[in-house]
Amino acid sequence: MAGDKLIEVKNLCKEFHGKKVLKNISIDINKGDVVCLIGPSGSGKSTFLRCLNKLEVADSGEILFEGVDICKKDVNIDLHRQKMGMVFQQFNLFPHMTVLDNLTIAPIKLQGVDANIAIDYAISLLEKVGLADRADEYQSKLSGGQQQRVAIVRALCMKPDVMLFDEPTSALDPEMVGEVLSVMKDLAEQKMTMVVVTHEMGFAREVANRVVFLDSGEFVEENEPKEFFTNPKNERLKIFLSKVL
Ligand code: ADP
Ligand code: MG
Repeated sequence: MAGDKLIEVKNLCKEFHGKKVLKNISIDINKGDVVCLIGPSGSGKSTFLRCLNKLEVADSGEILFEGVDICKKDVNIDLHRQKMGMVFQQFNLFPHMTVLDNLTIAPIKLQGVDANIAIDYAISLLEKVGLADRADEYQSKLSGGQQQRVAIVRALCMKPDVMLFDEPTSALDPEMVGEVLSVMKDLAEQKMTMVVVTHEMGFAREVANRVVFLDSGEFVEENEPKEFFTNPKNERLKIFLSKVL
């Protein structure tokens, strides 16, 4: 699978009010990659992820997704987003719907999937994350860790080609972090392509095949995890790691 490009980012630039937030970012993401993005607060990690699914529009550069430049105006953005599951720090479930309805509404309404098929698929994924018995609950009855696992399943119900995670465990109580990371680890083992912004260095070390350090809008260093953490080269990365490890 190595070398089978899913996303090619070339010279991506983005600024807000004259402040350069992404400075000429380039990276290729291959099918099956688990890329962890780490870096200080404000370095542009979320903006980068948001550009990938066009929640932000890049100022210049190219993002080829499955060979199609999604920066072009005529791209079908709804179709594109269905191929990219996104999980945020905040869970964003619909509070007035049951878990099962949260999971099936988009496949049924946006993708035209038959309701029974959508329900069967959603339940099979809930089983995998240990939440089959919560299908009829509302968000308010679930713990933060359960809600985030449902949010991951909701993204998976669209059968995406890549999953983007933006600090998925940062809003959780510490005792719930592990259950969410464990679901993400399972996904990685199933060869899902994943781009994960995280402060969980243990996860990056154990699960990622590539770790990238973003600082002040630049990709400063990339390596496989062992080398990245034990033998950092860039001074800024060394300082960052000395604070977080
Ligand atoms: P990170 O996720 O690494 O913490 P962000 O991508 O959220 O960083 O933000 C990078 C920089 O861009 C920060 O200085 C932030 O204040 C700024 N920024 C992000 N989004 C916006 C926005 N919608 N409008 C203006 N400034 C923004
Ligand atoms: Mg962020």
